[in-house]
Amino acid sequence: MNDYISTRDAHQSVSSKQAILNGMSPDGGLYVLPTLDQIHLDLSLICTMSYKENAVYILSHLLTDYTKEELEACVENAYANSFSKQEITPIKKVDDVYVLELFHGPTCAFKDVALTLLPQLMSCALKSTSQKALILTATSGDTGKAALSGFCDVENIGINVFYPYKKVSAIQYRQMVTQKGKNVNVFGIQGNFDDAQSGVKAMFNNKELAAAMDAKGYQFSSANSINIGRLVPQVVYYVYAYTRLLGSGTVAEGEPVNFVVPTGNFGNILAAFYAKNMGIPVGKLICASNENKVLYDFFDTGIYDRNREFVLTSSPSMDILISSNLERLIYRIAGEDAAKTKEMMDALSADGKYTLTEEMKAQLADFVGGWASEEKTAAEIKRVYDATGYVMDTHTAVASAVYKEYKDRTGDETKTVIASTASPYKFATSVMTAIDAKYEGMDDFALIDELSKVSGVSIPQAVEEIRSAPVLHDTVCETADMQKTVETILGL
Ligand SMILES: *Cc1c(COP(=O)(O)O)cnc(C)c1O
Repeated sequence: MNDYISTRDAHQSVSSKQAILNGMSPDGGLYVLPTLDQIHLDLSLICTMSYKENAVYILSHLLTDYTKEELEACVENAYANSFSKQEITPIKKVDDVYVLELFHGPTCAFKDVALTLLPQLMSCALKSTSQKALILTATSGDTGKAALSGFCDVENIGINVFYPYKKVSAIQYRQMVTQKGKNVNVFGIQGNFDDAQSGVKAMFNNKELAAAMDAKGYQFSSANSINIGRLVPQVVYYVYAYTRLLGSGTVAEGEPVNFVVPTGNFGNILAAFYAKNMGIPVGKLICASNENKVLYDFFDTGIYDRNREFVLTSSPSMDILISSNLERLIYRIAGEDAAKTKEMMDALSADGKYTLTEEMKAQLADFVGGWASEEKTAAEIKRVYDATGYVMDTHTAVASAVYKEYKDRTGDETKTVIASTASPYKFATSVMTAIDAKYEGMDDFALIDELSKVSGVSIPQAVEEIRSAPVLHDTVCETADMQKTVETILGL
């Protein structure tokens, strides 16, 4: 069942297992399933399902070469013990919106929902080969920990994470260097995130290294959101959110909801779009950016232009100028034309820029772009806290601010779900100083205690345990030595 095809060449087709192992297509394109619109979901049936049952049901439509038993085992291993809430992704009514809390996993960010399941899917796919996989990940902070936690002690897979030494938050640092597990390695590098990313890419593209690894039975793979195995688990919670609202009578059959998504690499919002393609009644998909508003400008003008200054913000997981997953949307609005998609992606790598045709632009009506400045984001955290007592993290606050402006401007009364992508505990300093300037200058762990007092929400286990956990990974290397460290680990 080779039903996944490359966005850059329709002749490159693979099974979903192979797509997950490959990460991306050898031609540089991303894997897509062109038949999403033909899928029929039984929503009244899903209303009666638990999160895990819903996950198996959705996955069985999207990963067609896995057996039902395989999917059940993957889902059980991923979600049985790692989330602190029974519902996995609970929904809370806050003021006039529904907040979909995606951050109750082992590292307190939404990436956990997919990064607990991807390793299981990958491990299962490896069983039909004789290979082992080595995951290489460059991280600016969040992805690294979520990937370490998800891949920890998974059979036949090893993981190496590279983070920019002294350039991650105190909590992110402690989360990574205290990671347990026999198959995990964590390295600081003397450089920034781009250096880490370039070092990893160079290893992926090194043919000699690949041959030496192959001789030892290893292949590289990716835990990045370009991997379809990270995208598919995210479709699940949009379906889940809709069916909870339907099941509780909050929305009537067929009544649309809007989703607001704080966006960086365009993975999370694309999953919401896929849920819509599969028949979930969705009104607008509201794409919220921080000051790196390349996507806002794209929806506004039809021009994607990354040639601009990179801004460091208080929502660092959205500080991105190349939103990789947008390629999958481009492919769709180009009428599934691989040549046209390739042309635009080539323009992006050559000039950092491409322009949609009028026909393509006309197909973006499902989306609304918005952005929030640093001041607006901080003000939104305070506004929501003062009005409701609910404390949201900086990324969620970007989405909330964008939604408020959208609603004021359009008067759209459609019921709306905000994807809440991180626990406020993960960004305690920015969150607390937004609520009250008196917290400025206090250390991260002291602020965690203060946050617990003001929010009345207990400190997540994941944050509590890193306070005293021993440091297990203290290696820091030069950027130029990244490959050497990998070769040493593999005994090459
Ligand atoms: C990764 C991340 C995002 C951005 O998600 P994309 O899928 O890259 O658009 C938003 N918020 C948080 C907290 C994240 O970690």
